[in-house]
Amino acid sequence: MSRAFNFSAGPATLPQAVLEQAQAEMLDWHGVGASIVELSHRGPEFMQVAAEAEADLRTLMSIPDDYAVLFLQGGATMQQALLALNFAEPGQAADYVVTGHWGKTALKQVNHYVQAHVAASGEAGGFRDIPPRADWTLTPGAAYVHVTANETIHGVEFRELPDVGDVPLFADFSSSIVSEPLDVSRFGVIYAGAQKNLGPVGVSVVIVRRDLLERAGQPRADILDYRSHVKGESMLNTPPTWNWYLAGLVFKWMLAEGGVEEFAARNARKSALLYRTIDGSDGFYRNEVAPAVRSRMNVPFFLRDEALDKPFLAEAKDAGLISLKGHRALGGMRASIYNAMPEAGVEALAAFMRDFQQRHG
Ligand code: PMP
Repeated sequence: MSRAFNFSAGPATLPQAVLEQAQAEMLDWHGVGASIVELSHRGPEFMQVAAEAEADLRTLMSIPDDYAVLFLQGGATMQQALLALNFAEPGQAADYVVTGHWGKTALKQVNHYVQAHVAASGEAGGFRDIPPRADWTLTPGAAYVHVTANETIHGVEFRELPDVGDVPLFADFSSSIVSEPLDVSRFGVIYAGAQKNLGPVGVSVVIVRRDLLERAGQPRADILDYRSHVKGESMLNTPPTWNWYLAGLVFKWMLAEGGVEEFAARNARKSALLYRTIDGSDGFYRNEVAPAVRSRMNVPFFLRDEALDKPFLAEAKDAGLISLKGHRALGGMRASIYNAMPEAGVEALAAFMRDFQQRHG
């Protein structure tokens, strides 16, 4: 068996220790004679797995008690629609700060439900920077302000939390949750699809300040109602038990490795090494994002000579470095380096890039 260093943006690489544990527990979970994914979600075994996952995530992120934590299906995109249905009156204003592709998808999900207002957008500059807070035009009386903490495709990340006054700040943390310490109390809602930093695709984490659940929102079915999900402990219907279980193993792994402080340090080293390699290449490689907002999780880069893209990917694959092709919206390359990407993986990539440049530069 040989595992490559996998730079996929999501679904993304998972910690090998977690995969090995899941493998060992696959046929017989803790001596019950069945896999955890073959047991009722309401049985004592899975209830324990679910409760531990929530408790571990609360520890990992220091989530205050006045926030509810949900494990839901539908991906981050579903949550983007539910934000408006749950927290805005029909036709109420909601402010969106658009700093890349995923900010745009968030906006697209709510047009039927709210008066969506683009408070600021980096699109004119090709999403290479984040518009300064002073230039945002926030709407008085808006239901919330939505930001994308880290833009997975454009590689743009908020490095400072914006102050939006009394209006709750809602943030898509799909590609940067648990990558560093975060003051959860600054947010109304934090949501994330699991498939980058938390586990396998199929479950999303939603962290909601409880007082917001008293908002009337809009007419909606029970299954679209965060209040009902909180009351039902994320088990209104059959939850994605496999994904929840694996996410729980990832949380335990992160805690054992030293928690978010440790990952923040590793992620800073990993991303700094890659950006140093790109910036020090005399233009052979380039990243166009303003240095102050460069993502620590997703590093898009381009080769000066596009004709070398194919050989770069092929030789990288031969060197055990996979999934480096950039998103089709941007082209070029992208290295996603979430918590589960070991430093050795990024060191191998940086060494490969220098070597490739020497041979083709
Ligand atoms: N937001 C961000 C920042 C993302 O990276 C993604 C997926 N790559 C999404 C939202 C959409 O997530 P999902 O596919 O889980 O709906």
